[in-house]
Amino acid sequence: MKFDLDESKRRIIEGELDTQAQVICQRCLEPMQIALHDEFRLAVVNSEAQSEKLPKSLDPWICEDIKLVLAQVIEEQLILCMPIVSYHDNDCIEKLSFEATQPKHNGTAKVANGAGKPNPFDILKTLKDKD
Ligand SMILES: [Zn+2]
Repeated sequence: MKFDLDESKRRIIEGELDTQAQVICQRCLEPMQIALHDEFRLAVVNSEAQSEKLPKSLDPWICEDIKLVLAQVIEEQLILCMPIVSYHDNDCIEKLSFEATQPKHNGTAKVANGAGKPNPFDILKTLKDKD
């Protein structure tokens, strides 16, 4: 990270980050590593009103206090450069072993009504009867 004043005497933080993060693959739900990279150029401003006057090339970092917490700046940039969804490159879903359940055919067509199993919605009937 580089700290500087630009030609308009704005306080500028210029930086680049490269790191690895562990996320969950949205296809197989197994953990996976992703590489994160970001380049940023922030202007430290005191208020929301000041941030609206910045040129488009600068992102605002609002710091009302005199103290700027660098860890917060890095955390924010990491969150911003995270992809919305992550998937393994390979066909990870094929590696997962699913146990296929075979439907039972014993001659008579039987409607699966879950006989014997408690219906989780039965509780609603008792609520309705009370009215
Ligand atoms: Zn996966």
